[in-house]
Amino acid sequence: MAQVVVIGNIALDETLAVEAFPEPGASIAGSALSEGVGGKGANQAIAMARALAGVAPVRFVAAIGGDLRGARLRAGIEGEVLEARLISRDLPTDFSVILRDKNRENTIVTTQDCARSITGEEAVAVLAEYGPGDALVLQGNLRAETSLAVLEAAKARGIWRVLNPSPVEGCTAEMLAACDLLVVNEGEAETFGGAAHLSVGKVLVRTLGPRGAEVWQEGALVLKVAGVAVEALDPTGAGDCFLAALVAAMIRRGAILPEAEDLDLAAWAAGLCVSRLGTQSAFPTVAEFQAAFTA
Ligand code: ATP
Repeated sequence: MAQVVVIGNIALDETLAVEAFPEPGASIAGSALSEGVGGKGANQAIAMARALAGVAPVRFVAAIGGDLRGARLRAGIEGEVLEARLISRDLPTDFSVILRDKNRENTIVTTQDCARSITGEEAVAVLAEYGPGDALVLQGNLRAETSLAVLEAAKARGIWRVLNPSPVEGCTAEMLAACDLLVVNEGEAETFGGAAHLSVGKVLVRTLGPRGAEVWQEGALVLKVAGVAVEALDPTGAGDCFLAALVAAMIRRGAILPEAEDLDLAAWAAGLCVSRLGTQSAFPTVAEFQAAFTA
């Protein structure tokens, strides 16, 4: 049975509603909307674990501080089906301030003290229990040298490597070259030289917001699926939910090249996420994923 390991960040999402985003130097009023488990690593691991429940174990490795935010995060993931390996640090737990304006657009700042404290040795040591047929999923919140070390070690062990280069500042060309499946949104694709360029030597999936997603290989567009028409309430976590559902669908089929059915399943999951308020509370549940996979 395939196993999945996600090494990334976990952060407490603190969401504030504002009328409009502040100009530099401005002080503005806002209202507290919600607080909950977030961070791209945690989001992707949780959605993937729900999608693979009973099929493949998902382990999530992240660093966390001993403060109140850390305690809230530990409690927040307790009910999830994933195996969380949280490394304790004497650092402030990572958190995100999410400003949501009246058009429901988000502007997000995420701290990375804990995520960037994970060393290459720690991350590579995690791979000792993984080998051919297993999957590694990374994002851009670790230090680039840590990510590169773990990607190269995973390659040497025959592990299938999935990278979501977000935030882009945490990603290098070497990291992009060291993965098998790259999942990007339109902005990320642009930052790293475009879909045609990025798809050389690997499989590239580019998400297009409400317009769906595409698969590129060796510089060519090979597949495109439409988005699911939904009333968009809250886009937070849609990209993470899409990636997680896509990877889970591929693992369920034992495939390393996505087919239309995988992209459709991912678009369904992300569409559901967009149509509900919240992040992980908006992801499909285990039961919803199971129904979707058996439909
Ligand atoms: P986010 O940063 O909001 O998590 P992203 O920028 O990483 O998302 P997008 O390309 O915006 O990625 O969206 C990812 C996927 O979510 C899309 O491929 C699509 O399936 C789904 N999606 C996003 N927005 C909508 C929408 N308004 N209606 C339906 N589906 C959507």
